[in-house]
Amino acid sequence: MSSEKIALVTGANKGIGFETARQLAEKGVKVYMGARDKGRGEAAASALKSQGLDVEFMWLDMTKRPLFHAAKTLLETQHGRLDILVNNAAIQIEDPTWSQNTTTTVSPHVLQETFDVNFFGLVELTNILLPLIAKSKAGRIVNLTSILGSLTLHDTPSSPIYSTKTFAYNASKAALNMYTIHLAYTLKDTPIRVNSAHPGWVKTDMGTDAAPMSVEDGAKTTVDLALAGEDSPHGRYIHLGKELPW
Ligand code: NDP
Repeated sequence: MSSEKIALVTGANKGIGFETARQLAEKGVKVYMGARDKGRGEAAASALKSQGLDVEFMWLDMTKRPLFHAAKTLLETQHGRLDILVNNAAIQIEDPTWSQNTTTTVSPHVLQETFDVNFFGLVELTNILLPLIAKSKAGRIVNLTSILGSLTLHDTPSSPIYSTKTFAYNASKAALNMYTIHLAYTLKDTPIRVNSAHPGWVKTDMGTDAAPMSVEDGAKTTVDLALAGEDSPHGRYIHLGKELPW
């Protein structure tokens, strides 16, 4: 077994996923860059390869379940294990401005599509890859949720997110937080560590230009959790080393 760590980052063709792949590869990790569009994925991987980084494009659309099994087969054949899974890919398709309360207006289609990418696909991919992660000496799973998935903060009038009621997205991230807690319980007696990460409000297509954080800083929480040692948190909801309330 090679000593080089093997990582898969979903939704790695742009934004926080791309930057996470870059930072992990800069630290000597071999990174598979998942992307749903082959052209965009290949271009992203080429950009990092041209900087001398050890990355590969992996075709991974979170709505196309057969690709999950293909990913497992490739990783198993090439490496026999997976050390780091970063569940980063997500969508927010209800309001690009984040200003509308969609609680009573969201369509069943939007709700379904959002959960399909942000929750159902993610849970299925993770569970399919889990036997490979179990073959790592110290597997790490990072679920990119969001502060918008915090039930406590949504119920706290003084919280900074109190009025951001993009319902489908927020509910999908709250559900993902529950998966983190359940998976952490399931894996508590193993060396695998799983956590929810809130990257901060980050300048990306999703975060918009109004966001205060750079994409470099936005990848920090994820990269720290992905590379955490034996003292890694487990089943926690983290932003830049600090815990958020569920
Ligand atoms: P972006 O919109 O910039 O990037 C999202 C990535 O997910 C893209 O690569 C996109 O691919 C991919 N993606 C979307 N749908 C699918 C799919 N069906 N299959 C595979 N990949 C898909 O978002 P960010 O980089 O800002 O967000 C990254 C993560 O961080 C997300 O989980 C997000 O919820 C979370 N987050 C972001 C915050 C922010 O302020 N930016 C704040 C809190 C959490 P494509 O290019 O093809 O669309």
